[in-house]
Amino acid sequence: MQNASLPKPESADLKSRGVGAYLGLAIGDALGATVEFLTPNEIRHRFAREGGVHKDITGGGWLNLKPGQITDDTAMSLALGKAILADGGKVVALSAARAFDNWMRTSPIDIGNTVRKNLIRFRNTLEAEAPPAEHDAGNGAVMRTLPVALATLGQTQADIAAAFRAQAHVTHNNPLSDAGGLCVIALVQAALQGQSWPNLEAQAQTLSAEHPEFTWQTARRRENPSGYIVDTLVAVLQAFFSTNSFESCLIDVVNRGGDADTTGAIAGAIAGAWYGVAAIPERWQKALNPVIAQDCREQAEKLMAGSMPIQV
Ligand code: MN
Ligand code: MN
Repeated sequence: MQNASLPKPESADLKSRGVGAYLGLAIGDALGATVEFLTPNEIRHRFAREGGVHKDITGGGWLNLKPGQITDDTAMSLALGKAILADGGKVVALSAARAFDNWMRTSPIDIGNTVRKNLIRFRNTLEAEAPPAEHDAGNGAVMRTLPVALATLGQTQADIAAAFRAQAHVTHNNPLSDAGGLCVIALVQAALQGQSWPNLEAQAQTLSAEHPEFTWQTARRRENPSGYIVDTLVAVLQAFFSTNSFESCLIDVVNRGGDADTTGAIAGAIAGAWYGVAAIPERWQKALNPVIAQDCREQAEKLMAGSMPIQV
């Protein structure tokens, strides 16, 4: 079925999509952090001179960031990606736990409560896997999972799921976090492989069929999303599937406020994989911290070099 109104990716090139995904993650984080924990109304007032819309990477926010600075979402992704590369492309739970713990020792500007709690538990027990916890359904394991999507491209569903859980369960051993994370990986990988837009929608519908909490095709726009993975992903999926460019997707999602750096990071990874790096506005690429941008580019290429992309 061809529908002229469906969003089209800018480039069919796998490398452009992988780099787009990683830069998209960092750009979404840097863009969204400015309005993290604001409500949509507060954003409209604060950006009245810009037409009531936040659309530039300017830093600031509650973390008082420099323009182009990123937060824990990107930092934990890069720490995980580095560990995966050091293990020859494998996602090893103990390596992920050590990488996250070492990152926590650098006194990061922000860190989630569940992440902190379970990294302290890891320090004390040296057990990489956290015990199952009904309330550990925050978005912390999903926001950092892009390197897993890149490294496991072309692998079996069972191997992909095991790789996701190895990194995720260090801090979030929870079924909703697992379901959401596997959906994000499926969407990123489908986009990397150049699958159709309806295929991507079907991936997201699989998630909401198995866990109705994630039903995202509602008329009711999810605003002010919390750090609960359900809130986060409903906002991300609504934004991605209701827009037709990288830029409009990211502006839509971060202007919902709430956990905007994390919705921005996850939406940026999916949209970057779909639209490709050439579709990311130049003003955003220029604004991103250049050291972080270089790390993202390098990791994207190296992680995909070790994976086995399926030709579709
Ligand atoms: Mn953050
Ligand atoms: Mn956040």
